[in-house]
Amino acid sequence: MQKINCFRGFTFSAIKIHSQIAIIGGGTAGLNIAAQLIGDGHAIPQQIRIFEPSKMHAYQPGWTMVGGGLCNVKKTLKPMEQVLPKNISVSDSAVTKINPQKNEIETQDGGIYTYDQLVIATGIQTNFDQIKGAQKYLDDLNSPVASIYNYKYAVKMNRLVEEFEGGNILYTEPPLPIKCAGAPQKIIYLSHDRLNKRGIKTHHHFYKTAGVIFGVPKYAEILTELCKNKQINCHFKQKLVEVQDHIAIFENQDTKELKSVTFDLLHLVPPQFPAQFIAQSGLGDSAGFAHVHPNTLQHVTYKNIWSLGDCSSLPTSKTAAAVMAQTPVLVKNLIRTWKYKLDPIPGYLGYTSCPIFTSQTKLLLAEFKYNSELDETFPIFQSNESRLMFHLKKDFFPIAYWQIMVRGLWGGRDGLRFFKGA
Ligand SMILES: Cc1cc2nc3c(=O)[nH]c(=O)nc-3n(C[C@H](O)[C@H](O)[C@H](O)COP(=O)(O)OP(=O)(O)OC[C@H]3O[C@@H](n4cnc5c(N)ncnc54)[C@H](O)[C@@H]3O)c2cc1C
Repeated sequence: MQKINCFRGFTFSAIKIHSQIAIIGGGTAGLNIAAQLIGDGHAIPQQIRIFEPSKMHAYQPGWTMVGGGLCNVKKTLKPMEQVLPKNISVSDSAVTKINPQKNEIETQDGGIYTYDQLVIATGIQTNFDQIKGAQKYLDDLNSPVASIYNYKYAVKMNRLVEEFEGGNILYTEPPLPIKCAGAPQKIIYLSHDRLNKRGIKTHHHFYKTAGVIFGVPKYAEILTELCKNKQINCHFKQKLVEVQDHIAIFENQDTKELKSVTFDLLHLVPPQFPAQFIAQSGLGDSAGFAHVHPNTLQHVTYKNIWSLGDCSSLPTSKTAAAVMAQTPVLVKNLIRTWKYKLDPIPGYLGYTSCPIFTSQTKLLLAEFKYNSELDETFPIFQSNESRLMFHLKKDFFPIAYWQIMVRGLWGGRDGLRFFKGA
């Protein structure tokens, strides 16, 4: 017990609860780290504390399939207690501050916790409010505005496409980084195919803030051709800044000129940012992401702090697939430095993957690493849209996530993990 405050003669005190390993965030990265630390025998569950305010865990990659009519939303959500490792310590209040000099964490409910090792895994926050009017039209069930970046609005997207009777569909993409940078265009190809099959006359327009369709030249070439064949019009350097009744307003990124475009359906993607407490705690890079070494995942200043996933500064595309490749490296390095006083190994080379649905039956699997270098697992299937890759993504990955990943057994493309690997 430690005194923390005095006021008019009264002494307030707070218990500082200690854990060997604190993990902030029980999303894909936080769960995977906890499960692998326990599975590998490095820590007992009671010595690990996860900070996670959300009652539900989401398989977010499934939301593209929800919006695209390929999956029921119920299959993408599970109560948190069903996915957390058994007997792990949990705090359900959001973290508001880290004091890295004192190895302390503060939570919204006033709690103070200490740690030996800390993993920051808070993801990236979606902010629909940054687009004027967006939230209002998303929440209005009668308005033709939706987004797969939220499970409720993904359900709405599915309904809107199902009921669509023709006209202009606009799809947008905000400034990068965002989670799964391929998702804003996956929903185009899925919707395009559904409407085509129903014979609905539609004009599809893709408005991107960036200047290219995809960051890796090989896939950019394939996707450019695909858009040409499907008559999807791409508009680059156009940022959605406001939504009005059936009107979207874009800002040209070069000239700052505003342009109004009418729509019959709008699919928008929210701007995304790291949690503010990371930068406020002195742990962020210039953009506020947890500043870690790109190959070891160790914080650049504090050697007992680690980060992975969407909230980290790792300069790769933010995906669950990347998390699967990052987790074993982080676990190994945390244990090496903490328990054996060895240097961390620069084992992560930026692997990430983006399975891009190109229709209701085919998919282009993009896999790459740092500097947009290709890092393909099945090269013969990855130069074209593939039916096999479609089924891998639609049928196998959700099972792998819920049955294998949350138990720490999924090693990404290395397949099943056999423990004691670190
Ligand atoms: C529409 C869509 C499609 C996608 N498609 C794919 C795909 O096809 N393939 C793929 O690999 N990836 C895909 N992704 C990306 C993937 O879901 C993310 O990259 C992955 O979930 C990142 O894991 P994370 O743990 O870093 O973040 P998250 O899984 O988002 O978890 C972050 C957790 O931190 C918690 N948290 C936040 N702030 C605090 C705080 N202050 N205190 C405590 N806890 C906090 C949150 O509640 C959350 O549970 C997609 C994402 C979306 C939205």
